[in-house]
Amino acid sequence: MIAFGAALAAAPSWAQSDPPQSKPSPEEQAAEWNKKGVDYKKENKTREAIEAFEKALEFAPSDPTITRNLGAAWNDEGVKRLEIDNNPESAIAAFEKAMKLYAVEKSIAKNKANAHERRGTVRLQKKQFDGAVEDYKTAIELDPLTGRYPTSLAYVAYLKEDYDSAERQLDAVVRAFEKETDAWVLLGETCYKKGDLRRAIDSLEKALKLEPNRSGLAERIEKIRGELKVEGDFLPQNSSHFQFRFPQNRSDLYTTADLVASMLEDAYWTVGRNFDHYPEGRTQVVFYEVKDFSAVTRADEWVGALYDGKIRVPIRDFEKHRDSLWKTLFHEYTHRVVHSLSQSRCPTWLNEGLAQISENANVPEAENRLRESKTLLLTAAELGAPFVGKLSSARARVAYDQSLSLSKYLVEQRGFASITRYLRSLAGDATTPPVAEPKAFEAEFRMTLEECMKRWRLSMNIGEEK
Ligand SMILES: [Zn+2]
Repeated sequence: MIAFGAALAAAPSWAQSDPPQSKPSPEEQAAEWNKKGVDYKKENKTREAIEAFEKALEFAPSDPTITRNLGAAWNDEGVKRLEIDNNPESAIAAFEKAMKLYAVEKSIAKNKANAHERRGTVRLQKKQFDGAVEDYKTAIELDPLTGRYPTSLAYVAYLKEDYDSAERQLDAVVRAFEKETDAWVLLGETCYKKGDLRRAIDSLEKALKLEPNRSGLAERIEKIRGELKVEGDFLPQNSSHFQFRFPQNRSDLYTTADLVASMLEDAYWTVGRNFDHYPEGRTQVVFYEVKDFSAVTRADEWVGALYDGKIRVPIRDFEKHRDSLWKTLFHEYTHRVVHSLSQSRCPTWLNEGLAQISENANVPEAENRLRESKTLLLTAAELGAPFVGKLSSARARVAYDQSLSLSKYLVEQRGFASITRYLRSLAGDATTPPVAEPKAFEAEFRMTLEECMKRWRLSMNIGEEK
């Protein structure tokens, strides 16, 4: 909240007692300018008030009343810059001046804290995480009694996928500010990311109690409850970069835990090296009984596994199908890395193509199938849209084969570094805003997707859309 709280004193008391003189004394002139300043301030003419008080101080440089008045005027100016100009940067400068002149007025520090939070949020939108952290920390120092600031600070850790740190911070926030709804919501989402569904529900319910009408909250709790029904008693296991879960009643699978962990860690380093990217925080991997898998994911029957923020894998006979387990994990982990690089903005064909490249899918076989297929190739627009839920299984086969061959072609032409640059450009970063499609593709690869597809068809001897 913003307070115009700094009270004003009219004229210094000694001003009235002076006898009239032909030439006004410095004290009189100071009093006159001070009075002008007070009037301007009343009329909300902040700039004029500041000038008048500054003038007054020239005649009475150490006068405490005028100094405080000038501080209060700078406070007003800061509020205007923040609320009317929506410019936290210059508001901070104004509040800084105000605090120096009028240090005892606590509302100025609160206003400055608010301006820092606002600037922090702007920085966060630009992915300037360090700058945002600095602002939120300053806000907490200036106004330690507001729970919103430490919540915002924890949100930075959440966005950086450092869920352990986010949870630690939010635990402290809700202890100190038990009515801070945002903190409870964020704690719930953090626990969800960490796979602690029970605690996620508990936290979100606390939030719901505080704000029963908060939009989407009740539905969110219901959705997690649905997952808990299936995942609830899964046994979590950790490796360095993954948390993976099996159903508890499948103790026969515990022996495969080490196998799964070593494959995942292998994927972490191999895929990470290709893309030069190693996401922070543990990636969740959940193994389901086949019937539960489709219940939770509602995926099409041809989907072998999927990544939707967690890697979800239906349980098959892993010992017997080690190869396919390895492929599945590398495939889905690539989705995880691509998601992290592109902030979910990667076109489907490239996402699926890169995932298949990671799993060492057989490219010549895919290309032969494409040459022999009687089904039409997908258009550029179809390739960019999601495959799941839209394609028959025959058409899905073509979509995946085409994605693989086309992605392989692009990687060979331009290299992985170029692909990574392209993915990053879709997400944007601290210094550059996200680039939208089809501009991003053209900017990085110096051709349109349609041109790329044409060249690819020629070089692969894969016919026009049949
Ligand atoms: Zn996939």
